[in-house]
Amino acid sequence: MEDLIRVENLRKEFPVQKSFFDQLFAGKKKGFVHAVDDISFEIKKGEVLGLAGESGSGKSTTGRLLIRLLDPTSGNIYFEGENLADISSKDIQKFRSKMQVVFQDPNSSLSPRMRVGDAIGHPLKIHTDLGTEERKRKVMELMERVGLSPAEFLYYKYPHQLSGGQSQRVVLARALVTNPEFVVADEPIAMADVSVRAMILELMKELKEEFDLTYLFVTHDLSTAKYICDRIAIMYLGRIVEIGNTRELFDNPHHPYTKALLAAVPVPDPAQRRTEEIPRGEIPSAIDPPAGCHFHPRCRYATEACSKGRPKMKEVSPGHFSACILD
Ligand code: SF4
Repeated sequence: MEDLIRVENLRKEFPVQKSFFDQLFAGKKKGFVHAVDDISFEIKKGEVLGLAGESGSGKSTTGRLLIRLLDPTSGNIYFEGENLADISSKDIQKFRSKMQVVFQDPNSSLSPRMRVGDAIGHPLKIHTDLGTEERKRKVMELMERVGLSPAEFLYYKYPHQLSGGQSQRVVLARALVTNPEFVVADEPIAMADVSVRAMILELMKELKEEFDLTYLFVTHDLSTAKYICDRIAIMYLGRIVEIGNTRELFDNPHHPYTKALLAAVPVPDPAQRRTEEIPRGEIPSAIDPPAGCHFHPRCRYATEACSKGRPKMKEVSPGHFSACILD
């Protein structure tokens, strides 16, 4: 499979606002949140790449960088041969219809004053010259396809008149209405009721085949990632620490952080419970991350060497990479 997206040495730093007294007396250097810290990976055309990790690991920031909702501090993002990191905010507009995003909270991404049909058709108004009737026909077709049926009835509803599951379907339809090639799905089922999560995931899988899509699936939940992703990248404090085929990652995890995350995934059979411990404490601040391997303060296998330098990614089996000195 060819690459749809190739990311090289991507970084994103956010400046930290200092208090008045810090600026005046402490003489402290300007601080930065190192949200994404020199990551490289590719996404194959037609695959679902999962980006998993705890809250604060940089996975949502990475998703936003890939479609240039955020500007990178440095690094390259190649999409169809063009480096998105290098082009102006104005020129990025021509890629907007090809790259879409589905956010975790449908209610905050839908305008309460816009009817459902208008919300779904809005990207068509911006990115195409279709007339009103054509737009409406396309929106209605898509609404039926994503399960917003009967479309003629729901087209005129407002977001507050929909159920949670219907709202998430509206957001999905809006993302797909311009026939994109790439969709960043940022925790797309995290806010949905348990009863509709499986339905939304199944729908996303079907739509991927039907619309020939490629997904970046951002999640903190490895069991969801296992269900939908072809490959998974594990992020910790802005870095990718392990990446590989989903089955291989679950059957043969290498990085201690991946093992610990997997230990936290509920399993139906207690006899199969994993022995690895859940990591100690909380994820440290990305303003001043631990030296060397960022995971060392929480890692049960850490040695002195772990705080000395950043562990390099090593291929531990074909297509499976891990960044730990034990590999
Ligand atoms: Fe643990 Fe050291 Fe490996 Fe980091 S490099 S995961 S601290 S053993």
